[in-house]
Amino acid sequence: MTHVEHVIVGAGFAGLCAAIKLQEDGETDFLVVEKGSTVGGTWRDNTYPGACCDVPSQLYSYSFASHDWSKSYSPQPEIQDYIEGVARRSGTLDRFEFETTMEHAAWDAAAQRWEVRISGPGGERTVTSTTLIVGAGGLSEPRLPEIDGLDTFQGALFHSARWDHSVDLTGKRVAVIGTGASAIQIVPEVQKVAGHLDVYQRSAPWVIPRNDRTYKGVEATALKRFPFLRKVYRTGVYWAHEGYVPAFTMVPKLAAPAQKAAQANIAIGIKDPVLREKVTPRFAIGCKRILRSNTYYPALAADNTELVTDRITKVTGNAVVTADGVERPVDVIVVATGFHTTELPITEHITGTAGHTLAESWRQTGMAAYKGTTVPGFPNLFMLVGPNTGQGHTSMVFIIEAQVAYVRDAVRTMRRARYGAVEPNPRAYRKWNADLQRRMKRTVWNTGGCSSWYLDEKGRNTVLWPKATFTFRRQLASFDADAYDVKEISA
Ligand code: NAP
Repeated sequence: MTHVEHVIVGAGFAGLCAAIKLQEDGETDFLVVEKGSTVGGTWRDNTYPGACCDVPSQLYSYSFASHDWSKSYSPQPEIQDYIEGVARRSGTLDRFEFETTMEHAAWDAAAQRWEVRISGPGGERTVTSTTLIVGAGGLSEPRLPEIDGLDTFQGALFHSARWDHSVDLTGKRVAVIGTGASAIQIVPEVQKVAGHLDVYQRSAPWVIPRNDRTYKGVEATALKRFPFLRKVYRTGVYWAHEGYVPAFTMVPKLAAPAQKAAQANIAIGIKDPVLREKVTPRFAIGCKRILRSNTYYPALAADNTELVTDRITKVTGNAVVTADGVERPVDVIVVATGFHTTELPITEHITGTAGHTLAESWRQTGMAAYKGTTVPGFPNLFMLVGPNTGQGHTSMVFIIEAQVAYVRDAVRTMRRARYGAVEPNPRAYRKWNADLQRRMKRTVWNTGGCSSWYLDEKGRNTVLWPKATFTFRRQLASFDADAYDVKEISA
């Protein structure tokens, strides 16, 4: 059986970052398995019209690989190009296997190794590894709504993250289900070409204006020529976004200016008072992700758009039916209903020391980890973008880099101290999570009067980080072996 020191699952921002940084440490013996055909993860998969980052591009790039972005909020193709360029230049791609799925990983305690079964173009095989680094992403498994008859629809139907570009929407009757971050980018683009557009809203989101602009003239030239200026921009953007943290985590009233901006956005985009009322959210701003768009409200107000707020009761062969009994015929349904976030599907495929999977373990406890990265009973497993690492206000790339720094230091420590297996001790794990949940109680996510995908079925927020991101980075700056049960390398 082939052995590699590290198996990395996923080649999005997280997996690629892990590969690059391990290589910098001389840890070159790794294998990256990626089920898609190239790097990029969520950014490779989300090709819907209008897809672009909703955190400014300068922050949506690695700190170690700045980029000459064309716009303040870059479109998906430019972000995808960026990731592919970073991957090419990193000299790591020879250890990536694409169109390859991690079928199952099980910890072999005697050998102090992960046994990882993978399947790809060459068939199925098992490799062993000392560490298993999972960067499979929190937004990778589309969630379809449970609506009666959805599978009986005869027209084209696809999820926002699996856009079917072979379907021409020109002049068609289109339904978009959902009004989250993806939908508000899709709706203005579809409205431009569709004959008629029905937007099905379950709850209205808060949408603030987006200060999107193309870098031009002196600014564009300066950013191109002087990479340090990009760093200055990046730092400015970082701190501007970090300013949201107190409002989210301690004093929701501090978000009043954002709420005013969102209300003004409605007033500017929509003249009809009934429609204005329908799109005005009924929960505190920040409780769900604050969205950014200048074009969403005008698209809802357009003559060819209807915003439907009655609950969908069923889908027939050619129509969507709502609770008021109205049947709206459609040719195409776009399902923009989000992802499996609080029960990460990859965890069904990872078995720890007690012989049960991480998913089974989390069914008992809820999704939880130590420092968002490691889990008792799962030695040498490192989860990137793990539980309670999510962000409502800033870029996940910052968090990913902080986690990768922690993993690097864990690997260095293991080499130096000759540890064969490390797993967080239950006391440190319990304390970490108790502190998180205690802090969570006063956040707007738990108190703002909304239900969101941040909360699991027991109402615990297992997705977001309830403090400043610089605190997260500080807490993960070095590997704290004293919080771990360690075993020396067995002979
Ligand atoms: P989402 O934020 O989870 O939104 C899903 C939408 O579907 C919500 O409006 C939800 O309504 C609705 N919905 C779910 N089930 C439904 C049902 N059965 N019937 C009717 N409506 C239903 O998903 P998303 O828009 O794909 O975004 C997910 C995350 O991806 C975002 O929060 C963000 O982190 C990320 N994202 C980022 C970008 C970017 O940077 N550009 C773009 C897109 C997405 P309720 O609100 O009532 O639950």
